[in-house]
Amino acid sequence: MTVASAQPYRRSGGALFCEGVPLADIASRFGTPTYVYSRSAIEAAFAAYADALRGRPSLVCYAMKANSNLAVLNLLARSGSGFDIVSGGELARVIAAGGDPRKVVFSGVGKTAAEIAQALAADILCFNLESVPELEMVERVAVRMGRRARISVRVNPDVDPKTHPYISTGLKSNKFGVAYADTLPLYRRAASLSHIEIVGIDCHIGSRINDVAPYLEAADRLLDIVDVLAGDGIELAHIDFGGGLDIRYRDETPPAAAELIGALAARVDRRGHGGKTLMLEPGRSIVGPAGALLTRVNIVKTGAEKNFLIVDAAMNDLLRPALYDAWMDVQPVQPHGGLPRTYDIVGPICESGDWLARQRQIAAEPGDLLAVLGAGAYGMSMASNYNSRGRAAEVMVDGERVYEVRRRETVEELFALESTLP
Ligand SMILES: *Cc1c(COP(=O)(O)O)cnc(C)c1O
Repeated sequence: MTVASAQPYRRSGGALFCEGVPLADIASRFGTPTYVYSRSAIEAAFAAYADALRGRPSLVCYAMKANSNLAVLNLLARSGSGFDIVSGGELARVIAAGGDPRKVVFSGVGKTAAEIAQALAADILCFNLESVPELEMVERVAVRMGRRARISVRVNPDVDPKTHPYISTGLKSNKFGVAYADTLPLYRRAASLSHIEIVGIDCHIGSRINDVAPYLEAADRLLDIVDVLAGDGIELAHIDFGGGLDIRYRDETPPAAAELIGALAARVDRRGHGGKTLMLEPGRSIVGPAGALLTRVNIVKTGAEKNFLIVDAAMNDLLRPALYDAWMDVQPVQPHGGLPRTYDIVGPICESGDWLARQRQIAAEPGDLLAVLGAGAYGMSMASNYNSRGRAAEVMVDGERVYEVRRRETVEELFALESTLP
């Protein structure tokens, strides 16, 4: 099965383009480091999910922690997407971007009473609950506001997606979800509360999943619970299988969205629950391939042991290599006639963990542009101001046009909220 989203980064005459725009033009117009996103790649990736679900009750809730730029959210909202949020700040972004709160599910282990009140006031679709104390907090807030809160229980199905330990979330040892054995008591408690309406069940077993099998294993465990609940007279409206599909960073071969949905839908149908709304919460697979981080080589430092390309992007711009030991593809933006050498590509931050790529064969000199590909997810959304570095600009390419969707942060903005003692 082919991946539906076309590769938006291509070479033409040796130069690297995003859709119809040379990346070198973007660098000269907006400077570096700059995040570049392809509109068509985002829309195609969303359509791959939506098309595969067509004809059955369904909702795709984009997990916006992957990339929460308003322009990205707005495009997805226009495509009919819902949103999976993890904070009150993310809910405010959805609303600012024109998203529909009635298509929002609220995930996360530590929602505060204030965030719960904000979400109830916005009338979101569902709170994905992770514990008894959280259920009780939602009930208390709902009573105080005179509203009913729609809830789902995030089940920890105890399946191993065989991914990086930091992004595996569905094992017993993780902080996420409700232990399988505790799920039914939690639903029964929820059913006894006056301001709680049970509407669904959900799970999210991890990220960077390259196989359909762990999803089906989790699906079976969820459907077992759905059956028991039905026996108790609790009929659920939706089943939410979470997100987690990987993308191709290097040589990964994740299933296409259609393949995953085909398998899940067949399982749900076979077990007699085809009438329920099927939901997914993809993040990385919607925005990852659409994004690149453009950076410029500042210094070439050669040594007896190692050679370094010191670039103007750093771990504060793109944390994935430092945090997850992630491999990301780095491509020269213009062809270079020189001799390739083996380099570590690093930023200027005062940390040995500040690297973007290691041991790459590349020909480069100061002033050259590089593009870190597959950077659309968990790139800008994890960026910080460490070392008093303003965050990168973000631009969206649409065919031959380029829109600045977040301007570069100035240094003055970094300390605008601070003050000295009298
Ligand atoms: C992060 C997250 C997702 C999205 O994961 P991806 O790997 O980006 O698809 C979905 N659901 C929940 C609850 C999450 O925390």
